[in-house]
Amino acid sequence: MLEPSTPVQFVKGIGPRLAEVLAAKGIATVDDLLHYLPFRYEDRLNPRSVSELRAGEMATVIAEVRNSGVFRTRRMAIFQLTVGQGTSKLKCLWFNAAYLQDKFQPGQMLALYGKVEADRDGRLQIMQPQFEVLGDINEPGGADEAEKKAAASLEVGRIVPIYESTGQGKLSPRWFRRIIRWTLENLNPCLPDPVPAAVRKHLSLLSPNKALWQVHWPDPGESFTDLQTSRTPAHIRLIFDELFFIELGLELKRREQKAQTGIAFRLEKNVREAIKKILPFHPTAAQKRVLKEIATDMQAASPMRRLLQGDVGSGKTIVAFQAAIIAIENGYQAALMAPTEILAQQHYFSARQILEKTGYRIGLLTGSLDQVQKRNARRHIAQGNVQLVIGTHALIQDRVEFKKLGLVIVDEQHRFGVMQRLKLMRRASVDDTMGAGDSLARSGTKDLLDAEPDVLVMTATPIPRTLALTLYGDLDVSILDELPPGRTPVVTRSVPNDRSPEVWDFMRKQIEAGHQAYVVYPVIEENEETEVKAAKQMHRQLREKIFPSLHVGLLHGRLDSAEKEHVMREFQQGKIEILVATTVIEVGVDVPNATIMVVEHADRFGLAQLHQLRGRIGRGAAKSYCLLIRGNKVSEEGERRLDAMVRSNDGFQIAELDLELRGPGEFFGTKQAGIPSFRVANIIRDRELLEAAKREAAFVISGPNTEVSKDEIDRALREMRARWSPTYGLVEVG
Ligand code: ADP
Ligand code: MG
Repeated sequence: MLEPSTPVQFVKGIGPRLAEVLAAKGIATVDDLLHYLPFRYEDRLNPRSVSELRAGEMATVIAEVRNSGVFRTRRMAIFQLTVGQGTSKLKCLWFNAAYLQDKFQPGQMLALYGKVEADRDGRLQIMQPQFEVLGDINEPGGADEAEKKAAASLEVGRIVPIYESTGQGKLSPRWFRRIIRWTLENLNPCLPDPVPAAVRKHLSLLSPNKALWQVHWPDPGESFTDLQTSRTPAHIRLIFDELFFIELGLELKRREQKAQTGIAFRLEKNVREAIKKILPFHPTAAQKRVLKEIATDMQAASPMRRLLQGDVGSGKTIVAFQAAIIAIENGYQAALMAPTEILAQQHYFSARQILEKTGYRIGLLTGSLDQVQKRNARRHIAQGNVQLVIGTHALIQDRVEFKKLGLVIVDEQHRFGVMQRLKLMRRASVDDTMGAGDSLARSGTKDLLDAEPDVLVMTATPIPRTLALTLYGDLDVSILDELPPGRTPVVTRSVPNDRSPEVWDFMRKQIEAGHQAYVVYPVIEENEETEVKAAKQMHRQLREKIFPSLHVGLLHGRLDSAEKEHVMREFQQGKIEILVATTVIEVGVDVPNATIMVVEHADRFGLAQLHQLRGRIGRGAAKSYCLLIRGNKVSEEGERRLDAMVRSNDGFQIAELDLELRGPGEFFGTKQAGIPSFRVANIIRDRELLEAAKREAAFVISGPNTEVSKDEIDRALREMRARWSPTYGLVEVG
């Protein structure tokens, strides 16, 4: 009898060699094999009859081979096959497929699947169909006659699962069908269900065994649409399982964090007054709400672990400073980490301005300081002479000792870093910036009897709310969903390359009206092979040819920090009217007088990136314009990105679209992000199940009670640990 944990090598028909092929696909155990789900199904119970096919549809046809041949055009060899059912015939074509010519014999039965099209004479044909020769099972594994018969019966007269073949085609859909069928038949039928009964009841979940059977071998009556969209009860059970145990881990982690000793800051009069005193404007309702959430966390005795999301320009900085005031007025130090030197400097300047009235001592710690300055800065931090330290992630992370660190703020956290929260749960790994927060938190608290500083992470990456809430189950999430008043949405246009003279004219008018402009390029320097315009060369051209009477500055990542600082300051002070830049300005740069942004080769930028870039303008009351100049050849996806930018100013909408265009893997950069790679779930498609899983996980952990017994909780937690450690490398959950 097979158990889920049995290595696949013990499945009949899988030897050591095939086991290796499967291992490369991430299939090591029986459980992995059973979670290798069909990527589609064919209805071979009710296959289409040739006479009723319609052009444009995807169809499964079962028919007999009549004749075949190869004909050559000047460009390629086309293999043509005619199949028939009684008197009706259907033509199938494969391009560049002379190799198929020995594959078929007249009289063979085929299952064909593909798109039906009409040829020039209006006759129907299927182009490049996928096919299986029915009853032909010369596959690896050495089946005997009886088994061949049994296997053949799996191929017709039912809904047939189609698996992605692997091992360079060695492991065909048919091979998987036979192997998975055998595995199911020999699987221990009394698998315990690790999901507590109450949860099963809430969602009417099938048993694991039944779900596995049904997902591979659906009942004849199963809805075909549900099958193809992974929405059958069987799919739902398997997807839910995967998400539930992740959420259970996150929920537990979150509770653990809550149980740690933090600092219970107090919100006395001095704090309130200081917070009020600094405000240069009326906070938005969203800012007030978020500050309250943060303040409540900071007052609690458990450490804050909060993610603050807010679209570009929503005003996160002031909220961060307010949080810093709470810590400082309580006698603690605060650290603000920025991802770039430019941003750290900018924060330093605005902190000195905004916090001036408080009289706090503020320190800057960045790479451009010389050794002596750095040493001094560190000494002041260690002695507690500095109350607010602003720096780049790397520098603060680098063994800085604090006298009494109470709050760590991580600004403009990249989406990847944020997602690495999951990975971070494995405590050993603190290689991302959030990790920096944690390690910083630890290094700073030696003399504080293990009290953990509070951590606030800020990001402008608008992760759709449901995903944020569910995937960062271990973080609390605050959202600034309101822009400060007086902003008019940025007018965005997509402009063809040959109309750039008009763009420059328009820009000139804006500058004559007293505004400033950004011009963004995808690369710093020209590369001979591509025809992409580059910041350096275009800087020269814009300065010398197009705007000779204006001040045109250049900013990119390869300037040394003193140069960067100089250019930024001149732009901030209005001495530079046009700033030519690369994406270094993507995050955080805040110059409200800049009202126009031109992005050249805009189709080459990612959607989220374009949105971040556009966030640099539209920061003041004046109307702002974002002109996206597209290259000469734009891909279809590039068009869709530009289109989305023109249509929407809403970061959350854009993020959703980005997710759709790129898929979750790309969007989150699954690997780097430390997001578990799911076997059956898809966090976009399965959002609702993700939420249900989170809800149920919280419900289970809050037990035991009349609905969930202690035994059930223990079993679920054991299962969770078993799943987390091998899959996500998480040793220390719970
Ligand atoms: P981000 O969330 O992108 O970091 P910032 O904190 O840089 O945004 O704020 C963007 C701009 O809006 C800044 O110029 C800031 O001074 C201004 N701002 C923030 N909050 C308000 C408010 N409540 N009223 C008016 N202006 C605000
Ligand atoms: Mg910011």
